[in-house]
Amino acid sequence: MDTERNTVNEFPETTEVFPPAEPTVAAETPAPTIPAAPVQPTKFCKHCGQKIAIAAVICPNCGCQVEEIQRAPADQPNIIINNSNQNVNTNTVTNTVYVPGAKPKNKWVALLLCFFLGFLGGHKFYEGKVGMGILYLFTMGLLGFGVLVDFIRLLFKPNPYYV
Ligand SMILES: [Zn+2]
Repeated sequence: MDTERNTVNEFPETTEVFPPAEPTVAAETPAPTIPAAPVQPTKFCKHCGQKIAIAAVICPNCGCQVEEIQRAPADQPNIIINNSNQNVNTNTVTNTVYVPGAKPKNKWVALLLCFFLGFLGGHKFYEGKVGMGILYLFTMGLLGFGVLVDFIRLLFKPNPYYV
């Protein structure tokens, strides 16, 4: 019998060193995330549900009004009633009857002419009534009656009077 050759392997079996598993670098290509704009507070339109800015009054998507329009402090419009009455009464009462084209004559001059030269028609000529003056001249003042009537009428005329 052969001696058992118990070959004892003195050297422990070198544990086979497996190549270390390569670190599987998961090349995760990051999803191209678009750099988001600074986040603005948003709200949802109550008409179309679209995200709109918090300050939006009119939805840019559907155009509906989503917020109450800020009115002026005074809700009621200021109605300024400007009733300025500009009626001006221009009532010029003219007491003196003015006849256009009439010439003023002095009452006292006419009276003196009538008294002293009435029979010659002096006051008629003074008043510019040449025809009547000539008539008075040839009739002695209508035989005095015309002069008398003219003298009385002259007394009640204003000074100056207009003929
Ligand atoms: Zn909308």
